[in-house]
Amino acid sequence: MADLVVVGSVALDTVRTPFGQVTAALGGSATYFSYAASFFTRVRVVAAVGDDFPREHLDLLSNRGIDINALEILPGKKTFRWTGEYGFDLNEAKTLDTQLNALAEFKPSLAPAHKNAPFLFLANIDPELQLDVLRQMERPMLTAMDTMNFWIDGKREALLRVLREVDVLLINDTEARMLAREPNLIKAARVIIELGPRAVVIKRGEYGAVMVSGGDFFFAPAYPLESVFDPTGAGDTFAGGFMGYLAQRSLTDAPSIRKAMIFGAVLASFTVEDFSLDRLKRLKAEEIEERYGAFQAMVSFEH
Ligand code: AMP
Repeated sequence: MADLVVVGSVALDTVRTPFGQVTAALGGSATYFSYAASFFTRVRVVAAVGDDFPREHLDLLSNRGIDINALEILPGKKTFRWTGEYGFDLNEAKTLDTQLNALAEFKPSLAPAHKNAPFLFLANIDPELQLDVLRQMERPMLTAMDTMNFWIDGKREALLRVLREVDVLLINDTEARMLAREPNLIKAARVIIELGPRAVVIKRGEYGAVMVSGGDFFFAPAYPLESVFDPTGAGDTFAGGFMGYLAQRSLTDAPSIRKAMIFGAVLASFTVEDFSLDRLKRLKAEEIEERYGAFQAMVSFEH
């Protein structure tokens, strides 16, 4: 079991979907990621929150064995806040407001336990911060990252610098098209590979996820759910299952990456069943195994 470090947002989210809404609920890319990955391996979170961040959220993470020593509480600052909404097409989030707050000037200085971790995930956050953390790592076995329209539009140059140095990019379909400036997803994946990463995982919400690398192409469907309440965090949870599985096995070969895609899809399928981290909080290891089996049955066929 290898250590997995994540840098990303730890947030208070206000989210409205056609099925309900939550105000200042626990969210953030690093939060969903670390919670999902904690089912597989030891995760160390690098992030900052303000002194308004509820203690119970910190306890939730540490009670799952997530290392929060590098989750800084900045006095006099407020926690990152995101407000978003979804229409009946739950695949597309509309951002109504983003307040960076504590994350605006966050400059982490990594401790040896973090620098030496073999697996690193740069969750959705300012690409300058992603690069800063990436460059502090000693010799990671596998580095992966995510991003979103906010940074593709706002900090493209910095984002391109991170891309040049990372192994895998996980990104949703709209953002892949925007980043590559190419409407066809397969071509977009090729353009992105030219930018640096050796593999791209494009997440397509209810249509599943595709992985494109030099000579390989793999498709992971999404679990056919009848009740999806809130897609927030699905992408980060996918990444948590994906990286968590690889770190648990300390593997980065192509067959392991395929299995990691399915674990990502399994974990994401739970997150969307309730608001915030509510479904993940009730999740049991047996349910992960069971749904992994259901995925296998769903895609197996004979010649
Ligand atoms: P996902 O639905 O997986 O794409 O991620 C949703 C999470 O991303 C929410 O919990 C937000 O708090 C967080 N988020 C939204 N915008 C940003 C941003 N600009 N930077 C970092 N995290 C963000």
